[in-house]
Amino acid sequence: MDRPPARIPLAEGATPALAQWFVAKAAHPDALVFFRMGDFFELFFGDAEEASGALDIALSYRGEHRGQPVPMCGVPAHSVEPYLARLIRRGYRVALCDQMETPEQAKARKAPTIRREVVRLITPGTVTEDSLLEASRPAWLLALAPDNEILGAAWLDISTGSFGTETLPRAELGALLARLEPAEILVPEAFAGAAALTPFADRVAHVSLPRDGARRLCDAFEVSTLDGFGTFSDAEVTAAAAALDYVRATQAGVLPRLAPPIPVGDARILQMDAATRRSLEILRSERGGTRDCLLGSVDRTVTAPGTRELAARLASPLADTAAIAARHDAVSFLLAADAVRDALRAALKGAPDMARALGRLSLDRFLPRDLAAIRDGLARAAAMADALDGAAGVPPRPPLVDNARAELVPAASPWAELTRALSKDMPARLEDGGVVAAGYDGELDALRSLRDGAREAVAAMQLDLAQEWGVAALKIRHHQQFGFLAEVPSAAGEKLLRDAKRDGPRAPIHRQTMANAMRFTCTALAELDRRVAEAGERARSRERAVVRHLRGLILDAGPAIAAAAQAMASLDVHAAAAALAADGAWCRPEIVERPEFAIVAGRHPVVEAALARARGPAFVPNDCDLSGGRRICLLTGPNMAGKSTFLRQNALFVILAQAGFFVPAEGARLGLVDRLFSRVGAADDIAGGRSTFMVEMAETAAILNQATQRSLVVLDEVGRGTATWDGLAIAWAVLEALHDRIRCRAIFATHFHELVALAGKLPDLAPAAMQVREWRGQVVFQHRVAAGAAEKSWGLHVARLAGVPAPVLTRAGAVLRALEERARGLDPLSDEMPLFARASAKAAEPAGGTHPALDALAVIEPDALSPREAQDALYRLKSLLEAVAPDADTLSS
Ligand code: ADP
Ligand code: MG
Repeated sequence: MDRPPARIPLAEGATPALAQWFVAKAAHPDALVFFRMGDFFELFFGDAEEASGALDIALSYRGEHRGQPVPMCGVPAHSVEPYLARLIRRGYRVALCDQMETPEQAKARKAPTIRREVVRLITPGTVTEDSLLEASRPAWLLALAPDNEILGAAWLDISTGSFGTETLPRAELGALLARLEPAEILVPEAFAGAAALTPFADRVAHVSLPRDGARRLCDAFEVSTLDGFGTFSDAEVTAAAAALDYVRATQAGVLPRLAPPIPVGDARILQMDAATRRSLEILRSERGGTRDCLLGSVDRTVTAPGTRELAARLASPLADTAAIAARHDAVSFLLAADAVRDALRAALKGAPDMARALGRLSLDRFLPRDLAAIRDGLARAAAMADALDGAAGVPPRPPLVDNARAELVPAASPWAELTRALSKDMPARLEDGGVVAAGYDGELDALRSLRDGAREAVAAMQLDLAQEWGVAALKIRHHQQFGFLAEVPSAAGEKLLRDAKRDGPRAPIHRQTMANAMRFTCTALAELDRRVAEAGERARSRERAVVRHLRGLILDAGPAIAAAAQAMASLDVHAAAAALAADGAWCRPEIVERPEFAIVAGRHPVVEAALARARGPAFVPNDCDLSGGRRICLLTGPNMAGKSTFLRQNALFVILAQAGFFVPAEGARLGLVDRLFSRVGAADDIAGGRSTFMVEMAETAAILNQATQRSLVVLDEVGRGTATWDGLAIAWAVLEALHDRIRCRAIFATHFHELVALAGKLPDLAPAAMQVREWRGQVVFQHRVAAGAAEKSWGLHVARLAGVPAPVLTRAGAVLRALEERARGLDPLSDEMPLFARASAKAAEPAGGTHPALDALAVIEPDALSPREAQDALYRLKSLLEAVAPDADTLSS
């Protein structure tokens, strides 16, 4: 990330410990160095100043360096995670520099200070701890490798091991970033200035790209060729290797378990750019919340991995009819088999996140609960398999459900072994002991009973010493530093000190004097203490060995466990989709290859839910038909009538349907969409320094350049941001381009009622209007879409609703009448307008006269056209030719 480098003085003259700090800092200049000093991680110099501000902790000073006090702040080592979480969330990177030996070891080798090394680099894209991750979102680390006009992209999630690659034109980087929302982006420094990266500037890290990417990948996955994984471009391979190198570097050389990379480039997915995603509020609302968005309103999953899978599907819907239908089949099956669905969801509820536990185990950075997560997760998976198998009288399982069933129970599952080996209740940390159950390992059991026997001996010795020293109140206590000590009240202690002439193994030896008590030991107690400590240490070390063995078992079955976890997530998603369809009026959409679009009684899932929550009026369902002959819907109606809602809901149907879900409608038949464009409610790009109008035009340009005959475009009030005539002219031309040249399906909402005049000239344009009633001078929105054009815009009514003062409204009414008076007889879009020398489809039928294309050609002045206009004119001419061709409406493919 691009923060100004922290202030670092010269290293010369540093104390031995500080000298180590300088080495760590020099190796990781862009990270905050967390430097272990005993029980604390400390930060120095500029790092301390930066971190104390970011964490809101005290900045102090420790010693001097080159005559100046050293700025310092610190956090306790045992509770470092929450601090790391806050820094990572704010875009910092942290280098953990830990103590690599004990003070005794350092002393033994006569070193001036303890050896410390950077053991891990913590960056937003390489964390594995639950506290640093969002449970319901993947944490993608994305690497980009530019190669002339294209980009190789590779993304991996080390917390789950997923790994994907793609090759894309540079212009599509923005769309990729919007789809993945990476936690961290690796780019070569020369590419870091790319405009699409600007909104992600605080997540960008610079890397140098490896030259021998293929070899590195082969080595990492222990294969001799990558061909078995799919076909990769060179740039993809380079990006994938850069991501691997980075992970290895941040994990101090250890690579986590990763699935082999999957080239997703050829998997057909629905293309959506960043603006479309933003305007449709897929994974979050424009205000940033997660409730009032598509994901929030359809999410009925019961596990975090299920939510991650659902979010991933909504973020990349498919563009392949067979694959989509396979998902719909799975949902249909679980909708019909409601007992199976309930049993699956019961088994899933509360199931642990096996994928992430596996990730931490593979990095050897796990907690006891991660072992338990694998055991319990596999048990849940087995219960799900039973639920699927035991179902009587249900239709045969569709392929996706059947495949998931096959993955749920790994052939060589470590479940039985883990169940025998692990305690029921796991300690918080491995050092606490008690991870391994009694009865699993004979040697561990023996060491534990030795340790416990020694503890019993301590209890016995308490009785003996009380008697022998004549102090009934004597208690043996355990002390962190001194081990077992016999504590007696002060008076008794004084007496023991006075007649300390005794000797032998039980003679009291004074150790501590406190306010009301004194502590003693004796050689017998010290000997016992040593035995307890030794037995404890041997038991711990044996337990560590057993845990290592169990970890090995799990990692050996790693790919199968990951597959089981994935099967659980996908069943969670399918069952959740079925549950949603079961309690609401949702229907299975029919996906066809022809460019149709017919929705019966569709609803906007988010607005409907919001109205229901607010106990407001019921949502009014609306049909939408963009089939042949009415491909483009021109929607007029006053503000607040429901235009934007209608636009969005139909775009959301494409996402839901192609992501494999049912849709909130009574019926839906959708022709497969290749690219979805939505421009609804554009906001000023203040940060980017562009006005609303500029943003709108840039986005419109993107649509006109990229949309195809198979695309769906929803456009809201194009041209609203500029003067009326400019705006109308642009909206007009855009509409014509969509209709004549691109020939896509579109819904075009507008304030410009004048555009309705185009309906007579564009055969596939169907006007529609939001219904409004006037009731006692008030406007009543009916939120119903009907064929035809709106008669007036009701602007003054809406202004009154909004509380504009009456005198202003009266004045506006007078001005409006005057304007309308003047405009009468001045129909701007009558046929005499030179705006369009084009013909309607009817006129296009050669009725003995000249061909309309020839007419159009006649009025073209080649010298007056820019290259772009010339190209448009060509397209126009071609479309005039096609307009009279018999099969102009069918897809050419
Ligand atoms: P417009 O774009 O025409 O200004 P919106 O789509 O923003 O209107 O809708 C305004 C409000 O009307 C919405 O916030 C919603 O509360 C309500 N609304 C819109 N469509 C419907 C509908 N079909 N049924 C019920 N309420 C609706
Ligand atoms: Mg609107």
